Amino acid sequence: MFGEEKPVGVAVLGLGNVGRELVRIIEDTAGDLAARIGAPLALRGIGVRRVAADRGMPVELLTDNIEELVTREDVDIVVELMGPVEPARKAILSALEHGKSVVTANKALLSQSTGELAQAAENAHVDLYFEAAVAGAIPVIRPLTQSLAGDTVVRVAGIVNGTTNYILSEMDRTGADYARALADASALGYAEADPTADVEGYDAAAKAAILASIAFHTRVTVDDVYREGITKITPDDFASARALGCTIKLLAICERITTEQGQQHVSARVYPALVPLTHPLASVNGAFNAVVVEAKAAGRLMFYGQGAGGAPTASAVAGDLVMAARNRVLGSRGPRESKYAQLPVLPIGFTSARYYVRMYVADNPGVLSSVAAEFAKRAVSIAEVRQEGVVDEDGQRVAARIVVVTHNATDSAVSETVAALADLDVVQRVAAVLRLEGTGP
Ligand code: NAP
Repeated sequence: MFGEEKPVGVAVLGLGNVGRELVRIIEDTAGDLAARIGAPLALRGIGVRRVAADRGMPVELLTDNIEELVTREDVDIVVELMGPVEPARKAILSALEHGKSVVTANKALLSQSTGELAQAAENAHVDLYFEAAVAGAIPVIRPLTQSLAGDTVVRVAGIVNGTTNYILSEMDRTGADYARALADASALGYAEADPTADVEGYDAAAKAAILASIAFHTRVTVDDVYREGITKITPDDFASARALGCTIKLLAICERITTEQGQQHVSARVYPALVPLTHPLASVNGAFNAVVVEAKAAGRLMFYGQGAGGAPTASAVAGDLVMAARNRVLGSRGPRESKYAQLPVLPIGFTSARYYVRMYVADNPGVLSSVAAEFAKRAVSIAEVRQEGVVDEDGQRVAARIVVVTHNATDSAVSETVAALADLDVVQRVAAVLRLEGTGP
């Protein structure tokens, strides 16, 4: 039935965790994919670094000559699953310039170079799809670009990094400190040998840039995203969070913010935050991801599932591949980059949140009022204060721990307050400053 149609030629770059699973899907479900596309897919070649490695794959399909593969006449779609920014960027640009549609899962590249890649796709009138670049198997790019194309997205907030979510979930569940939870994550294969990109929030920031760009029709790069990682989170933070009915999650937050003057801005930020246990993101545990989208007419939508892993990620890549192939067969294109709004990015100092500040102070009368005065001076309104004694091994009170929870305040006002608190003689140290999300003003 599908023998007559001209096949759609596919080149896959990378045969690692995701590439292997994609090739398996292409081979195992060839008949179904052909029916959905209207023509069969033909795998023309697979780009790798080490052609000689034994991979259970016909060796004539493998090549380390990426440039030759992506420019072949019989290749219509290039699927980039190699990873690093380079050589992926060069390969994708070359493919686009030669009129190939491109599917990629490369969030690091997209968060730096969306503009360049989108322009090259535009010039060549071809598709550039990247559903797998954010939250693995979870459909979130296509809902934002297509299903919500008629609505106004106001907020996208999510847990988009499985490694950090596993670590924080374990710290919460077992009381382990950060180092032990990271070691467990590494032993189980959830953390890479160098976990910096995950634990310092770089990976989540790349995804936030991609989400903010498509949600708000504005080019946002990773350099526009404010970022804090999870390495300073302690068991004490979890104890305080629990006392407040919260847990701690690394969140990527993209917001459309309207200033008092009526100007619209975009804010994109990544940080660990206290999240109430009643919030839907609080129950996203282990290596799972979830994204909550709020749009004016649709209200709140939640997307949940496996944010990484070879097969789940390959599912999202295969979906893009089918879309791009169908467009080739029909001679059409999917939606192109939408950047008409070009909203300015709001610096972190101007964004507002509720804050949790934990400090250790001298256990003397009047200290609490000195602390409260520093908040008041900068118009940071206090919602809740808890003070308790800290005792030494002989049971003597040696200090007091004060936890302050604020109402909504700007980041700059809270930063100034914290700096002033640290300078007070009665304050021994400010141990933690975390935001509260999902609790209202
Ligand atoms: P991986 O297991 O490290 O595999 C990378 C593959 O690319 C290998 O086959 C490697 O060849 C090939 N490669 C790397 N550099 C190359 C070069 N210079 N020239 C030719 N081939 C090269 O990576 P992965 O986990 O499958 O990830 C692939 C992409 O998907 C990345 O962009 C990643 O960020 C993204 N992604 C991954 C996941 C996930 O869960 N793994 C989730 C979402 C997105 P050799 O085999 O010869 O070394």
